[in-house]
Amino acid sequence: MVVLATVIAGSLWLVFDIVIALLFYSTALLLLVIYHLYYLMSLDRWLQIPDPTSAALPDGSGAWGNVFARLARLMRNQSQSQQQLSLALERLRRATSAMPEGVTILDESDRIEWCNPVAENHFGIDSKRDVAQQITFLVRQPQFAEYLLTHDYSEPLVVKQKRHQELILSLQFVPYGDKQKLLISRDITSLEGVETMRRDFVANVSHELRTPLTVISGFFETASEEGWISSEMGKRALALMTDQTGRMQRLVEDLLTLSRLENTQNQIREESINVTEILYELYHEAESLSAGRHHINLTLDTDVKLWGSPDELRSAFSNLVSNAIRYTSDGGKVDLRWSCQNGKGVFVVQDTGIGIDQEHIPRLAERFYRVDLSRSRGTGGTGLGLAIVKHILSRHQAHLEIISEPGKGSSFSVWFPEKRSIAQEDE
Ligand code: ADP
Repeated sequence: MVVLATVIAGSLWLVFDIVIALLFYSTALLLLVIYHLYYLMSLDRWLQIPDPTSAALPDGSGAWGNVFARLARLMRNQSQSQQQLSLALERLRRATSAMPEGVTILDESDRIEWCNPVAENHFGIDSKRDVAQQITFLVRQPQFAEYLLTHDYSEPLVVKQKRHQELILSLQFVPYGDKQKLLISRDITSLEGVETMRRDFVANVSHELRTPLTVISGFFETASEEGWISSEMGKRALALMTDQTGRMQRLVEDLLTLSRLENTQNQIREESINVTEILYELYHEAESLSAGRHHINLTLDTDVKLWGSPDELRSAFSNLVSNAIRYTSDGGKVDLRWSCQNGKGVFVVQDTGIGIDQEHIPRLAERFYRVDLSRSRGTGGTGLGLAIVKHILSRHQAHLEIISEPGKGSSFSVWFPEKRSIAQEDE
């Protein structure tokens, strides 16, 4: 248009004079401005409609027609993808709402961003009212705050909800994105009920078996001391029965110990533990158990003490030491070492015994798991020793590291967290 007006104005200048040409040129430009202003206003009016795609497209001629058509196409596409996104979000919201688990989304500062109705029910929260609330303000159990701070969420945490006394929840964090977390909560009240029944049953049966076994073993003891049985076969049978009764007594005692440790009501009694003293006692016990068949060494690199239960730790260490002796052939070496590494107390029992194949190591702490059943029985094992060790260590937030090679020996290291160490100057 501008080019056409310029050509015509040029011709008018040549044919008539410059004034007529300029007059024509200004009029043409003014008309052009009015034309564009008109369409700009139409565009503005159209864009002010709440949903422009639903209203009729303004009529436009020339370039404006194309602009309107392209704009309408763009807006239609955008509205379609917005609808698809809303549908996908709605589907996701419905799916998470229908999940049997509670799902809570936490931001990088552990504040609630969103949660599904199951989580609302579990924690007694309101997804709208409690948005941006710190999760630890709403789930107030101290062990929950501790679990959140550990940053090790491989195992779930079991808590009893204070609001509903009977509700037992299994909680697990799933980190994702940029320091955000999902908190998955499961109601395990009925599962825990079954587990409590099982624990109570084992504890009751073991308790009931204790008295008759004590009577029987007392009877066998007297019979052998008093020489009631004279025949060789009778003596052999008596020795065998005494042996088996002793085994049953050890089994019953180990089962009772496990029940006590598993009982969450049975809180650990925290006191200062003189590890050095316990290790001296264990060393002497090991000497008497070995009866001179092994070379036993005790190395004390530190005198650091621990916070915890002395009886429980004594029992855990004793199990590891007795295993080392029982699974090491005569002439072998057993080293006990207490040290402190970066503030963490470490107890290591190293032997030159039969060793363990790698495939068995992850399962060693399961109840009654034995690499070689006959060998374990032969050495007087109950198959519960390492299960007891594992429970005691988890009650002290300690972990067990097992390194072993068949035929060469094993090393069992117990690592205590720094917070359990008491250096001498702290006392
Ligand atoms: P057990 O009473 O049978 O010794 P534990 O729970 O103490 O039961 O140990 C489980 C199994 O782990 C044992 O049966 C044995 O096969 C293996 N084990 C434990 N300690 C050692 C060790 N120091 N050397 C070799 N094997 C071991």
